[in-house]
Amino acid sequence: MSPIVVAASVTKQFGPLKALNKVSLSVLPGAVQCIIGPSGSGKSTLLRCINQLEKIDAGAITVAGELIGYRRVGNELHELSDTEIARQRLKTGMVFQRFNLFNHMTVLQNIIEGPLTVLKRPRREIVAEAMALLDRVGLAEKRDSYPIELSGGQQQRIAIARALAMKPQVMLFDEPTSALDPELVGEVLNVMRDLAASGMTMIVVTHELGFAREVASDVVFMDKGEIVEQGPPQQVLVAPSQARTRDFIAAVL
Ligand code: ADP
Ligand code: MG
Repeated sequence: MSPIVVAASVTKQFGPLKALNKVSLSVLPGAVQCIIGPSGSGKSTLLRCINQLEKIDAGAITVAGELIGYRRVGNELHELSDTEIARQRLKTGMVFQRFNLFNHMTVLQNIIEGPLTVLKRPRREIVAEAMALLDRVGLAEKRDSYPIELSGGQQQRIAIARALAMKPQVMLFDEPTSALDPELVGEVLNVMRDLAASGMTMIVVTHELGFAREVASDVVFMDKGEIVEQGPPQQVLVAPSQARTRDFIAAVL
């Protein structure tokens, strides 16, 4: 089985700062790749590079077999057009820490907006799919509510449904529960657990080590823009080999 996401020696700089320093990572189809690490270690930057919200400075990223951002012409790399990049970006769905729903739209409108305006699919078809997704995240009865009427946990479940409505091949989660009150974290993790069980490929930045231990196929610990340690959750989270990983886990628990 060939990987669905490959980062090969990816470097991303912000001025003199190497937010990512030669990061390499392969994610197999259906895998749940968890990424942990202290604040500022480059976790969001890695997701943002995979989703082409940031341009990388060196290395290469492929998603579903396709080099992103560039086309190879002989020995040269040519930057892709905005249209091509927009097409590639549809392969990844992203859920952020802050549920960035459209507040002037109902829940249903939030979910159908992308399929309707970007994919230009027929409304009747996508409303049916949206309702199935709402059912899946347990919020079918909220279809006509506005985001402001929902709890943070419910908003985040809608954000997940909205990303899924675009039928991405990979879902990227950037600390999806970090902004939630503690009692709302579980309902979002449950939706993510179901999604993982359904076979979705997921890359999840999280401080929820219990979730990572239970659901991750593989865990990466990042520090200062580098992958310090990688392996199965039972190794990285339970018996880490690196002192930096041990210190981080002790601090989070
Ligand atoms: P994490 O998600 O692990 O907390 P980030 O990927 O957000 O880390 O950030 C990695 C480093 O890059 C940090 O030092 C951060 O301050 C810096 N950084 C991130 N985005 C930018 C930006 N747009 N401009 C300048 N520096 C940035
Ligand atoms: Mg971050």
